Amino acid sequence: MIVGNSYADDLKGLYLPFQAARFPAPALVALDRGLAGELGMDPNDAGLAQMLSGQTPPEGATTLAMAYAGHQFGGFSPSLGDGRAMLLAEVQGQDGRWWDIHLKGSGRTPFSRGADGKAALGPMLREYVISRAMFAMGVPTTRALAVVATGEDVYREAGALPGAVLARVGGSHLRVGTFQFVAARGDIDSLRRLLAYAIRRHDADLAPDDALGLLKRVGARQSRLIAQWMGLGFVHGVMNTDNMTISGETIDYGPCAFMEAHDPATVFSSIDRQGRYAYGNQPGIARWNLARLAEALLPLIDADEDRAIEQASAVIDGFAEWFQRDLQNVLALKLGLAAPNPDLTEDLLNAMMEAKADHTLTFRALVQAAKGDTGAFLAQVPEGRDWLVRWQAENPDAAMIEAHNPARIPRNHLVEEALDAAQKGDMAPFDSLTKALDRPFCDIAGLDRYRLPAPSGFGAYRTFC
Ligand code: AMP
Ligand code: MG
Ligand code: MG
Repeated sequence: MIVGNSYADDLKGLYLPFQAARFPAPALVALDRGLAGELGMDPNDAGLAQMLSGQTPPEGATTLAMAYAGHQFGGFSPSLGDGRAMLLAEVQGQDGRWWDIHLKGSGRTPFSRGADGKAALGPMLREYVISRAMFAMGVPTTRALAVVATGEDVYREAGALPGAVLARVGGSHLRVGTFQFVAARGDIDSLRRLLAYAIRRHDADLAPDDALGLLKRVGARQSRLIAQWMGLGFVHGVMNTDNMTISGETIDYGPCAFMEAHDPATVFSSIDRQGRYAYGNQPGIARWNLARLAEALLPLIDADEDRAIEQASAVIDGFAEWFQRDLQNVLALKLGLAAPNPDLTEDLLNAMMEAKADHTLTFRALVQAAKGDTGAFLAQVPEGRDWLVRWQAENPDAAMIEAHNPARIPRNHLVEEALDAAQKGDMAPFDSLTKALDRPFCDIAGLDRYRLPAPSGFGAYRTFC
């Protein structure tokens, strides 16, 4: 494994040295063996549980807790940081690219405020299965490498729960909030260093001081990302600026969930009482977050503040247009169309909402419908006959539809069932679920229970983080 320390070397003042808490009995409960291999690790190495719980970091790695700020539900906190997380190492993958290995649940840091710095097994397995499914569906995301049970209990409202550490891998862990942390301190030298660092890691073709260029790139990546979320019915749930990456990867799978019945007002998070992060609000929030990044970068965009604001505003104003283009491209692929058709897609989404149609099943049913079998589609959208006629006139491509509409997503009742069993020591449902989600675009016989929505008795779904 090839280890580097670019963050520790280049960004002094943006972290504190940190070593993971000691855990009594680290044991692997989940491992992405393929990803381990991509990072140059031996997936059969008996030391992985020790390494990926931070007990024995890779040789040469400087372990640290990152500093960042962030707007949480609209309110600014100048000092958040890794309160229960740490950078374990940067490693160069077999693909030549550099990756962060970050741990979550690794113990109290100077950023923990009153909390314990630990994580329970259930939520870490939840991030594991959902981020893995997102990757399998082709969505940019941090990837779960492993979940390590720590052998100690953590204490939550529900009582004592088995503790765990999640090891996740990302192109970096730079966030909008990382820039806000520096900007809020008025530290222009550090801001300049952070900009050059971010550009080197993510946009190496830009000049190291091209703040406007980075802003545009982040906007473009976030626009494409949110368009993919929208296509899949994914609700992130906590799009605070500290949870929006510079890399354009989905990060922080706390209260996220996939909607079943299509409805823009869908909210799962128990703490999102105003619906700020509802499904339909996500594009607007991404734009709002991008504006916060623009504010942080202003002094580096132009020495003349008015000119800086003018240039940054042009980027923020452009976001809505980029997003519409990206969303329409995603929807055209989902409908199997050679070119976007906004009227057709809007009418479908409205009909789905009216019929409370299952988002995933409805789109997947178009594979059959393109081949002439409209039964499954009409079961979701009973009033959809006229729409089907209009759509069929556009000669939709069944293979394109199949490749862009998953048959199986991490359904909330299945995730809960798997986590319940895991908490009691039975990993079989978790392993079966993970396997069922690894090839989401293939129809696989015998996997029907992973395809269908929650039984009506499951009720409204609430998530906690
Ligand atoms: P999140 O909601 O996971 O994005 O976290 C927001 C902030 O709260 C981050 O600074 C986290 O590090 C911190 N945090 C969340 N849970 C804990 C915990 N159990 N102990 C310490 N800090 C935490
Ligand atoms: Mg976070
Ligand atoms: Mg969280």
